[in-house]
Amino acid sequence: MSFVLRFTRRFSMAHRLIAGQSDKCATPHGHNELVTVDLVAKRPTPLDGDANMVAEFARAKGRWHRFVDEHLDHALQLSEHDPLVTIADAQFPGWRLVITPGDPTTELLAALLAAKCQRFLDADTTSLRVARVTIEETPTNSVVFEGDPRDVLPARDDAWWWRADDSTRG
Ligand SMILES: [Zn+2]
Repeated sequence: MSFVLRFTRRFSMAHRLIAGQSDKCATPHGHNELVTVDLVAKRPTPLDGDANMVAEFARAKGRWHRFVDEHLDHALQLSEHDPLVTIADAQFPGWRLVITPGDPTTELLAALLAAKCQRFLDADTTSLRVARVTIEETPTNSVVFEGDPRDVLPARDDAWWWRADDSTRG
């Protein structure tokens, strides 16, 4: 028995993938994507017959969507190994960048966003846990991440995806 609180936000992004052999993927290009976060109560409790709410839905949603709108939307996602990072820092300091450990694939982003969203929830002392993050690349293509992001992400405790701030690099 558990409720799932689900919310979805649309964002536009650009990226390129440099570790593979595809010149097409290595050319900067963009996608319009949907990110859906599924939240569950850390400890399921019955509805109280009064307020009948799992948790502070609006608060959790507001913080997350602010991050998506102001820091993920229209960001350029680059691997930390990508030479474009140096060029952007030197010549385009205003660019919105998301710097990732290795190529910014949809799989990686789903895990990074699961970690980040959980940090926001913990900092806000909600009783919610991120059960699942879904990134819809196209109407027919999605990546779903479930479980503990620690199992799939590099062990860097101070990295941006483990911090409850708006940072998207470092
Ligand atoms: Zn792409």
